[in-house]
Order: sequence, then C-alpha cells, then structure tokens
Amino acid sequence: MEVENMSVTTDAEYLPAAITALDDAIHDLIKVQTMRDADGQVYTAPNLYVQLKTALHGQQSGEGKSAFRSRPSVWIAGLDLVERIERTVAEWAAPHRGHTLSLLADLPHMGWRPQDSSELQKWALTIRGWVKTINNLLDGVSEVEVTGACPQCEAKTVWRRDDLDENVKQPALLVTAQEARCLSCGTVWPPTSFELLAAAIGCAKVA
Ligand SMILES: [Zn+2]
Repeated sequence: MEVENMSVTTDAEYLPAAITALDDAIHDLIKVQTMRDADGQVYTAPNLYVQLKTALHGQQSGEGKSAFRSRPSVWIAGLDLVERIERTVAEWAAPHRGHTLSLLADLPHMGWRPQDSSELQKWALTIRGWVKTINNLLDGVSEVEVTGACPQCEAKTVWRRDDLDENVKQPALLVTAQEARCLSCGTVWPPTSFELLAAAIGCAKVA
C-alpha cells in the first residue's frame, strides 16, 4: 500500500518562527517604552511589567498610595495578573530560577527543541494577552478578569449562556468598583474586604 505523506513539514522548520514569535511577545512586555509628550519631547518609561507593579505598589504616585487603590476592581485584577505572570513564567523557565524579568529575557534562549515549537507559540499568545491586559489596566479599563479561585467555594470558573445562547466559561469572581461577587456561590465582598480577598486568592505577596 502506498503511504501518503503530505505533511512533511517538521517541527524543526517551525522552531525558528516559534522562537521569534516568543521573543517578539516578550519584547513587548519588557522593553523600555518610548513616549512623546504634547511638546514633542521624547522620553522613556519603564517596561509594561514594571509599570504594572509600580501602579500596584504606589511608588512614584506622590503620596505613597497605589495609583490603583482608588479603583479596586483594577487593583485586584492587577494583583491577580502579576501573580499569574510570576507563576507562569517560573513554570515555563523551570528548572531555571530568578527574577521574572530575567527569566523572561532568557526564555527564548533556553535551548528549545523542535518538538517544543507549538508550546512556544502558545506562550507567545499568552504573553500577548498579558500585554493587552496590562495596557487595559493602565488605561483604567476595569473590565478585566480575575482568575483566582473563590476563597469560599473554590470555584475558578462558571458556565453562563452568552448572547448567542451558547454555554461559555467565565471567571467565577466578578469584581467591580462596588463589590466582588462569586458567580458560583453568591458570596459578596464589599470594597473594604478587597485586600482580604486579594490575599485569599494568592495575591498577598505583591500587595
Ligand atoms: Zn464561591
């Protein structure tokens, strides 16, 4: 019997493209930002990851208060994202260890094999998602996901029907400026409890 072998493109051919995609995505996250003000003056700002952490910690925001504290939903989503980035990058880079920024910078050069190509492509997409979310957070868009599990019922996601009447998964914790609510068990946290909630979903170390 004649064996048809149409799919002869090997993983080895995809590897350089996958590494480039990863490198580009990382670059968007950790490159120094060049900005131009109204007078045409060019100045630089820290990379997006550092900007996010600065906004959370409140350095350079005048009175030692977080730039996000007045917008609890943005603040909690930011904490959630930083935690996710640190955990994910540590998993990707293992067994290498180090600061998240150095791990990210080294990531494309960690001796990947051809069979890693599709995984690297997925990572590039994940990082692009982070970049988008950070930009949204810094722009003050509060419709961002909190992906941590509910401390009460441990649900991470719930199913709901979307506009097209299809079942879609969404994060269980819905955080607005007024309250945080678990869509699974119905627990509601007022803004005064947001710090406790952030700690409970694993954001304590960056708070
Ligand atoms: Zn719950």
